[in-house]
Amino acid sequence: MANELTKTINTKDLPNSEGYFGEYGGAYLPPDLDEVMKEIDRAYRKIVEDPAFIEALMDLRKHYVGRPSPIYHAKRLSEAVGGAQIYLKREDLNHTGAHKINHCIGEVLLAKAMGKKKVIAETGAGQHGVALATAAALTGLECDIYMGSIDVRKEAPNVSRMKILGAKVIEVERGTQSLKDAVDAAFEAYLKDPVDQIYCIGSVVGPHPFPMMVRDFQSIVGIEAKEQIREMIGRLPEAIVACVGGGSNAMGIFSAFLDDHEVAIYGVEPAGKGLDTPNHAATITKGSVGILHGFRSLLLQDEQGEALPVYSIASGLDYPGVGPQHSFLHSIKRVIYESITDREAVEAFYGLSRMEGIIPALESSHAVAYAIKLAQTMSPDKVILVNLSGRGDKDIDFVLEHYPLEEYEPEAKNKRDGFKEFLAHIKTK
Ligand SMILES: *Cc1c(COP(=O)(O)O)cnc(C)c1O
Repeated sequence: MANELTKTINTKDLPNSEGYFGEYGGAYLPPDLDEVMKEIDRAYRKIVEDPAFIEALMDLRKHYVGRPSPIYHAKRLSEAVGGAQIYLKREDLNHTGAHKINHCIGEVLLAKAMGKKKVIAETGAGQHGVALATAAALTGLECDIYMGSIDVRKEAPNVSRMKILGAKVIEVERGTQSLKDAVDAAFEAYLKDPVDQIYCIGSVVGPHPFPMMVRDFQSIVGIEAKEQIREMIGRLPEAIVACVGGGSNAMGIFSAFLDDHEVAIYGVEPAGKGLDTPNHAATITKGSVGILHGFRSLLLQDEQGEALPVYSIASGLDYPGVGPQHSFLHSIKRVIYESITDREAVEAFYGLSRMEGIIPALESSHAVAYAIKLAQTMSPDKVILVNLSGRGDKDIDFVLEHYPLEEYEPEAKNKRDGFKEFLAHIKTK
């Protein structure tokens, strides 16, 4: 039984015992934290063999998160684009509206099993903070979220959500008052009390064991998707596409297909206002090897090795680093990394909303936009599976204000026809 149950966690591509994927990963930390990470690693390796833990995880996935999430064939979109069939793995339908709840549930169950009283984390736009605060409320753990004071003001609804859920939001006033300083503050707080607290990282980044652990907790996405798509089309898809910020939703779906070499895999980075401007966060496309937040990976950095300020319309994608396994998969060319601009993402955001009645998160819109481009190079009997990492409710006001709808349907007399024209417009790019 334990064997059957552990199949829901992908452990077959573990990094080596020091947490390296090739030359990437590891743990670059002060000695105190180094010991703490080793303890988390030991606790994690033990717990994934424990049937009671797996059972609790599976129960919450099913009855709380709402898994399995369905796969949906976006027929109208595919037809309008004219090429391969686009299918969507609907992580937007999870409780809290994105994939992040998958690893937050795993992290809080681990925290509980380790006897921790409090979970702590940093958050940028607040999505990770909300997912963790949700999981903490569910398990009765205290929750401290560190957030730059600029972000606190910018992301008021998520701050309210966290407070309602019982989390303490700690404003970080120093430095740039945004994500990077929030990470530093959270690490410092963690060092002060690593016994009662545990740091829950929000993606497949940070020191070992987090890139491995977060990937394993997300791997349910790929495991489900493989079974579902086989049932729907009788084979595997020709291509998988996911957006890459830190890279957790992408690793979640990719991990099930890495050994299926007939499946092409694409990770999509944010090209922001263009790769030739400083305003992007395309870490793999434009970065170089460095160390940030305790791990070695590709990094957008200056000559001194300081992380550069990064930008994307999708705040969940603007991180100057990327999960070490992605750097590795790039180096061995198993995954192809491409990028999509803000404007292309917005076109996909409107396009999917109009063609299918699904409003995607701006992060996920990057994956949809790339799938739209890719589909045109493929015949209609081919299949592209997109990981739709989250829903776009959080983005609607911002998009309408900064990218007025009228600009995207200039000649539309009838809106739906207008959007066919608009898709044709994407097509010629
Ligand atoms: C946070 C977020 C992302 C980016 O995080 P990854 O770790 O790269 O998956 C993508 N999509 C949504 C909806 C998010 O909230």
